[in-house]
Amino acid sequence: MLFDTHSHVKPWSHDASQTIDQLLNDAEQKGLAGICLTDHYEKDLFYERGYEDIFDPDEYFRHLGSKRLDPNSAVKQGKPAFLIGAELGWLPHLRDHLIWLTSNYPFDNVILSMHVFRGSDPYINENFFSEGIEVVYPEAIADMVDMIETFSDFDILGHFDYVSRYYKSENAKMLYKHAPDQFDSLFKKMAEDGKCLEINTRTTVKMRSMGYIKSESLPDPDIIKRYLELGGKYISIGSDSHHNGDAALIFSEMKEWLQSNGVNRLTYFVERKPVEYII
Ligand SMILES: [Zn+2]
Ligand SMILES: [Zn+2]
Repeated sequence: MLFDTHSHVKPWSHDASQTIDQLLNDAEQKGLAGICLTDHYEKDLFYERGYEDIFDPDEYFRHLGSKRLDPNSAVKQGKPAFLIGAELGWLPHLRDHLIWLTSNYPFDNVILSMHVFRGSDPYINENFFSEGIEVVYPEAIADMVDMIETFSDFDILGHFDYVSRYYKSENAKMLYKHAPDQFDSLFKKMAEDGKCLEINTRTTVKMRSMGYIKSESLPDPDIIKRYLELGGKYISIGSDSHHNGDAALIFSEMKEWLQSNGVNRLTYFVERKPVEYII
């Protein structure tokens, strides 16, 4: 049984359409061991709604706290565990604010994600790739190295391959060879700090919609191999679900892919502490 460590619901995430009850029901239908809610906390970013894409953490915990179900109680009740986290959108000037947030609220799991690279979000900026992926991909990974050197109060590095979702080409998939030095620096730092690498199945599904056949759409094996070689310890699997029915998206395929690449344990976080399980 797998644990889905990345999911979003409305109204807390601006781009989610599912409710918490739909998500919990979906997790149960999919036979998950547990799910962690990780709503967007994108301070100083304004997407569709015209106001900052953050949730009020007091309200968040007031509404969701009573639904939290720790893994031990979940097993007794025969239900998936339900944990409460957040996906923090990184901008360098937010460092102190994010430290305030993570130190003042009882998150189980903090995902640190980069959606904005040098002031620009590939989700919005059509010219994001104008210099070509030979330039953009190494820069994106290098920016993540800077990010984790600046801010360490997180558990999981979210979707390292986020930018590839928006490169409109049949060659969009991010490969180790696009940025070998940058990946090495990133993985060394993660290993040193005991951070967790997320395998995000939503990116894989996006690759499929961009023309990759099933087997080719899965992540580059060289990435995971190098992560393990450099001492990377923790790996999580996240569906990044935003809509009803997307929990555990292609998890059984991804589990096989992970096993075939030498990964036999995954991790989720409870009260910010890693819990490993065999797959
Ligand atoms: Zn989202
Ligand atoms: Zn994200």
